[in-house]
Amino acid sequence: MIGHVYVSRRLTAAPMAALESRGVPVVVHRDPDWPPSRDQLLGAVRGASALVTLLTERVDAELLDAAGDALQIVANCAVGYDNIDVPAARCHDVVVTNTPGVLDEATADCAFGLILATARRLVEADRFMRTGKEWIWGPQSFVGIDVSAGAILGIVGLGRIGMAVARRAHAFNMQILATGSGAHSRKAAALGVQPAKIGTLLRESDIVSLHCPLTPDTQHLIGAAELAVMKTTGILVNTARGPIIDEAALVEALDGGVIAGAGLDVYEREPQPHPRFLELDNVVLLPHIGSAGEATRNAMGQLAVDNVCAVLNGDPPLTPVTE
Ligand code: NAP
Repeated sequence: MIGHVYVSRRLTAAPMAALESRGVPVVVHRDPDWPPSRDQLLGAVRGASALVTLLTERVDAELLDAAGDALQIVANCAVGYDNIDVPAARCHDVVVTNTPGVLDEATADCAFGLILATARRLVEADRFMRTGKEWIWGPQSFVGIDVSAGAILGIVGLGRIGMAVARRAHAFNMQILATGSGAHSRKAAALGVQPAKIGTLLRESDIVSLHCPLTPDTQHLIGAAELAVMKTTGILVNTARGPIIDEAALVEALDGGVIAGAGLDVYEREPQPHPRFLELDNVVLLPHIGSAGEATRNAMGQLAVDNVCAVLNGDPPLTPVTE
């Protein structure tokens, strides 16, 4: 017997309509702007055949147990799936899917926006203009890094999104260092990417951009020791996942001049940024909007819905997580 499809936050209109037209009962968390509490979630999944989850939901053995035997698929509406205990899902015979590929360009746009905003101090300059203070063009005002004059970009994790960032960097005449198996590919070579170990990348880059997944291996990949080897003029950009950076160490590095700036879309204890970031001028803060393009959000939702429908129809999922 097919149970309901539980959607933990209303998706954009097109994928929502697609799901609701499939003839399966759909239950959507009522508040479109805030995730269900743990208790609401544990109650709402009971008897469900499919869950459409977001990175705000922890999917673990407790949740899978609460859902019960009808559950066939957890379709995460994100490419990252660090919120899901994949081995636990496998033990429960539940398929896990994510949304790879459809958000690469939007996320790379966001990363590159942070690169430009941080290197050229755009947000700091905007904040200054809003003070209404007297100003005049000056040879030393708001001087930042010349991105297009051959600045070196270090990409940690040259996967799908990292490669999309590399394409932008190549068009901006940047030199590119990168880690990850993709750094050895022909596509990377065509963009002038030089494969590098992380230590070399951190030491030589003017701007470091993180694009690896959050795993036990990458948690606090960037801490005090890694920040210390970066250039004092260096900039760190994170559109991957917050816990990849030790935020307390980053605050100290930004405050103490160990590095020059940071651009962040994600936080170690989301949704709370480290409170001291709010006092620093040399950090640009975004509320995790990497994939927030209209077409991208439709495509992510549609892929999650297509995965649900495939599995409930007895077909293979389109984008299974296979770790
Ligand atoms: P991907 O194609 O799988 O690429 C991941 C890259 O990270 C690969 O180059 C991989 O190298 C590397 N990597 C894996 N494990 C690593 C480790 N332990 N240390 C260093 N590098 C490692 O993933 P993607 O689709 O580009 O997405 C990357 C991440 O971006 C997602 O996991 C997600 O967390 C984040 N993201 C954030 C937003 C946002 O809204 N801010 C949006 C989309 C995605 P190998 O090829 O050698 O394994």
